[in-house]
Amino acid sequence: MERFDIVVVGAGLAGCVAAYTAAREGLQVVLVERGSQPGTKTVSGGLLYTHALGRLFPKFWEEEPCPVERAIDRNVVSFLTPTRAASLDYFDAEFSRPPFNAFSVLRSRLDPWLAAKAEAAGAVPVYGIKIDDLVKENGHVVGIRAGDDEIRADVVILSEGSNAILARGTASPPKPDPHVVGVGVKQVIGLPPGEVERRFQLRGISGTQYTTIGFPSDVEGGGFLYTNRETLSIGLILGMESLVRKGVSMFEVLEEYRQHPLLSRLLDGGTLLEYSGCFVEEGGWGRLLPLFGDGYLVAGSAAGFFLNSGFTLRGMDFALESGRIAGETAVRAVRAKDPSAASLTSYRTALEQSFVLKELRAFRGYPAVFRNPRLYGTYPEILTRLLHGAFFTDGSGRPHLRKLLAESYRGRASLTRIARDAWKFSSAL
Ligand SMILES: Cc1cc2nc3c(=O)[nH]c(=O)nc-3n(C[C@H](O)[C@H](O)[C@H](O)COP(=O)(O)OP(=O)(O)OC[C@H]3O[C@@H](n4cnc5c(N)ncnc54)[C@H](O)[C@@H]3O)c2cc1C
Repeated sequence: MERFDIVVVGAGLAGCVAAYTAAREGLQVVLVERGSQPGTKTVSGGLLYTHALGRLFPKFWEEEPCPVERAIDRNVVSFLTPTRAASLDYFDAEFSRPPFNAFSVLRSRLDPWLAAKAEAAGAVPVYGIKIDDLVKENGHVVGIRAGDDEIRADVVILSEGSNAILARGTASPPKPDPHVVGVGVKQVIGLPPGEVERRFQLRGISGTQYTTIGFPSDVEGGGFLYTNRETLSIGLILGMESLVRKGVSMFEVLEEYRQHPLLSRLLDGGTLLEYSGCFVEEGGWGRLLPLFGDGYLVAGSAAGFFLNSGFTLRGMDFALESGRIAGETAVRAVRAKDPSAASLTSYRTALEQSFVLKELRAFRGYPAVFRNPRLYGTYPEILTRLLHGAFFTDGSGRPHLRKLLAESYRGRASLTRIARDAWKFSSAL
């Protein structure tokens, strides 16, 4: 049995930052990760909004090795049907200048870079060990257990990602709800040198991201395609309940997605380098786990910090910020020799003052909006029909736009239904 001031479970973004923050204050910190190295077990699309990382490591993009891939200055949001795409295409030159808005990242590079920061600050790395359980005394968490080994600490930070098996065991978490459980699947595709720049018309470190709604097998969920330096990241987050209802596997749906004519030309000739999948809890504000208790704090996606707006997918900046705040809270508790729940409430207060809980509360209507099945079939169909009519010309006398508009929704959704959905979308956004 060993003893530290703080044990951090999971060397993802939340865990590495929590360990870094506490270790640089001179506390004895151990960072435990089940993967043989940080980044080997994580699944993430990989679009990182930079603000939270920039606050910790200003100009991180200039470091060697560089932890990030491309500065995203072109954001394309597309509604897909099997052969069409109706897109909003937003280019912003400011986004590819310091301090940058968002970078594409590969977690196999970012996580080891961040873990190295924690190690350099003094955190002790223990990799290749899966923590099985928490050690409790009189209901108070006093350490962690892996097999017969125990590590004891004043504060345990649980940053084990969205499965959150340990965090779920601490208190009474919300009952599982099949409507808010999703599965994420992702591939990294390698392209020959120079090909990413050529296909996406990129200059320097600039990059493009596609977010898509609708199409593969009408399963509820969305997809993404991000440009990295010499690779592409492509994937989907799909509603579990919808997958089961349609009777398709996520691997089939991903294959179908890759074949979409808008995407397949971008992926042509690529080599599959990585393939991963995981569980995603998309519940948002109403489904957060208890964030702290006697002797422990929960950070990152283990707590349920994830925000999917349909056009942005955010979990990594929430993980970084909550990891930093968890690290700072744990330091105060160790120094005060009081790791009780009463002392650790300051974690929640600090999260409420940060963007983490402010944004999750402000956008608490998102998950309900994205449970609307018309978003994935009916509305992409209506939009693309309208645009097809507007652009298609065969010399037979093009109908007036008003007529096209009426034809695009007739038989698909009533005007009242569309107006109601539009109201719900705008209220949530
Ligand atoms: C398909 C998909 C696409 C996504 N795309 C984006 C995106 O583009 N942008 C964005 O911001 N967010 C995205 N997210 C969300 C984002 O990936 C997560 O919010 C983020 O990774 C959470 O970081 P974390 O540190 O909390 O957890 P994780 O990154 O999951 O790290 C948890 C770590 O804990 C380790 N661990 C787990 N259990 C144990 C155990 N018992 N013992 C020891 N170690 C353990 C794991 O191996 C892992 O290394 C996406 C998620 C998915 C699934």
